[in-house]
Formats: sequence, C-alpha cells, structure tokens
Amino acid sequence: MAHPPYDPMTMHGFVNPPIVRGSTVLFESTAAMEDRQSLRYSYGLAGTPTTRVLEDALSDLEGAYGTALVPSGLAAVTLPLLAFASAGDHVLVVDSVYAPTRRFCHQVLKRMGVTVEYYDPHIGSDIAGLMRPETSVVFLETPASNTFEIQDVRAICDAAHAGGAVTMLDNTWATPLFFRPLDHGVDLSIHALTKYPGGHSDLLMGSVSANEASWGKLLKMQTALGINAAPDDCSLVLRGLKTMAVRLHHHQQAALDLAHWLEAREDVLEVLHPALASFSDHEAFKRQFSGSTGLFGVVVDGDRDAARRFLDALEIFGLGYSWGGHESLAVLVDLSDRTIAKGPDRGSLLRLQIGLENVGDLQADLERGFAAMAGGDAQ
Ligand SMILES: *Cc1c(COP(=O)(O)O)cnc(C)c1O
Repeated sequence: MAHPPYDPMTMHGFVNPPIVRGSTVLFESTAAMEDRQSLRYSYGLAGTPTTRVLEDALSDLEGAYGTALVPSGLAAVTLPLLAFASAGDHVLVVDSVYAPTRRFCHQVLKRMGVTVEYYDPHIGSDIAGLMRPETSVVFLETPASNTFEIQDVRAICDAAHAGGAVTMLDNTWATPLFFRPLDHGVDLSIHALTKYPGGHSDLLMGSVSANEASWGKLLKMQTALGINAAPDDCSLVLRGLKTMAVRLHHHQQAALDLAHWLEAREDVLEVLHPALASFSDHEAFKRQFSGSTGLFGVVVDGDRDAARRFLDALEIFGLGYSWGGHESLAVLVDLSDRTIAKGPDRGSLLRLQIGLENVGDLQADLERGFAAMAGGDAQ
C-alpha cells in the first residue's frame, strides 16, 4: 500500500506519520479522565497515533473492521486462540499448521482444558463431520507451512459457522495482496508482519484483523493481556508496506523462474509450489489466490545427509529461520510433528525463500548445492 491512511497535512505536510512513543496520556480535566472510554487515546498500552496508522492500513488491506498489533507473528496466532477458546471447548486445527502454533495448542490450550483436534488440510466441507457442540474455533493456514497444501476456505468456514464456531486463518504466506481471508468467510486473519510486510529481516511483529462480529472479543483479550507493538517498529512496517507490492512482484517472478528450473532437473523429485501447474492443489490455488510469493518447497533426490551437503555448499542462500526479507534462505524441513499431512514419502524436503538477489546468481548457488549433494562425502 503506497499511501497508508494518514493525511500529511495534519503534520505540516510531512509525507510519513511521526513516530509517537508514549505511556502516559494527559487529560484536560478529571471529567475527561472519567470519560476516557470515549477518547481515542487514554494510555500508551492501547496504541499511539503511529500504531493507529498501521492498524488502519492493515484493516483496509484485509477488508477488516479492526486490527490488533502484537509483538510477533506467533503472538498473532496465540491472541485470537486465547480470545475464543475456553475450558471445555473443542478446537479444530489444520494438521499442516506452522509448528509453533501446534506447540502452543499442546503446551497451553491443553492445560487450559481445551481439546485440540488436527484435521486434514484437504478436508473441505467434510469438516462438518468433525464439528462438536462444543467446537468453538476452526483454525486454518493456507498454503500450509512447508508442504503448501491449499485449503477450501469457503467450504470450511461455511461448515464451521453452521456449527457455531469462529474461523481464523494464518495468512502470512500470501499477504493481503494475494489473498483476503475475510472475503472468503474467515472471521480473523492472522499475519506475521515479520515476513513480507516488514520485508527486511529487522523486526518482529504480528497482526490480527477481525470482522465486526469478532472484533470486540479480540480487543478485550489484547487489553487483558497487556500486549501491543512498539511505535518504532510500526513505523518500520509502514515503510515496508509502501514497497511490498513491488517487492512481492520480484519475489513472485524469481521464485517461479527457479521453481520451473528446479522442476526440470533429474535430481529433483518434486517442487511444492502452489502456482506450478504440476502442483497437486494448483486448481484450488488458482480459484482462491491472485498471486504467489517467494517461499516454496523442493524435494531433492537424496537422504538427509545428502540434503545437508546441499545446504552447506550454498554461498548466497543463508541457513536461517523466518523468511519474507530481502535475502534468500534455505532450511531442511522437519515434519515429524505431523499426524496426517506427512509430506513427501521420498527424498528430502527443503524450503527455499527466494529473496531479491539476482536470479542467475541464485541459480548458480543452487547448482553448487546439487553438485555437493551428488559428490557425496568426497566433497
Ligand atoms: C513466521 C510465521 C509465524 C510467526 O511469526 P514470528 O514473527 O516469527 O513469530 C506465524 N505463522 C507463520 C505461517 C509463519 O511463517
């Protein structure tokens, strides 16, 4: 979004909103203090004018009623789960979910007395069969973390709503530029702003954008927990948003170029990229998404030691977690937490994040990896 919802003329014409840091907010009088619920600001914990510009920008992009900012993408997953799951409830979570989301379900929700059940990412409307009277939340993530399965969002949301549950979707991969969950029936859209919105691997932040029906409960939990995002970091995300469309255009094209090149190689068993015609969920992808980003999987023809040789030979791709920044990254994927969506049964799955470097240089780097993989221990 090149123009966030901020009027420079309210700030003497300065193009960017000022960074307003603050805890204390002063009131004109005791009467104003006692009537603080009607004021936009009463204490820094609920946000400052800088925070509000980012919240409003994200609500615009997501078509949401309100957006809550939190200190990490993971906190953007845990906040709505805490807001909508209570003791005695049953929660349905897609089996191909971001692994730390599963860890939270296991370590925290279970201890709260919430039953968590994992479902097949391809379940579609059959999720109706898993709904119980006490099912309060259906959690989606599409494409899936690491294996990139595409969910039928509308069908799942319709069944969830028919059973009285709210739906939340981790939309980090697509960004709101390529998928708007609320247009497909989702109640709460989750982002790790750490990834493409931040875009430069220099901050952590998360957001939850809610429709009007879900907003009150979400905001109440955010206030109760006492968490928000720092205004300095909000200003960095606002900067990132201004170039996100241009960056994503490059990430998309570079990732597709390399995915096509990889797919044609004999030492590659499969490329897990939703925008490839060969990908098993490609039709479901095309029907729901308007573009693809820079993160995909590649199944190389070798065991995990061969895959380690591949990764250790890379010079441009860094070995590191997270993604969505300017730099290319590669990791060896571990799917041992999965119970249903177990991933490819042959070879080794690598996850590549294609950054903003020269595509030819990245291809040459991957060639180095393949050579090291083929070379065995002699390399
Ligand atoms: C990275 C990621 C998160 C967590 O974001 P952090 O800011 O690193 O906590 C959540 N969901 C998905 C799908 C992610 O890829």
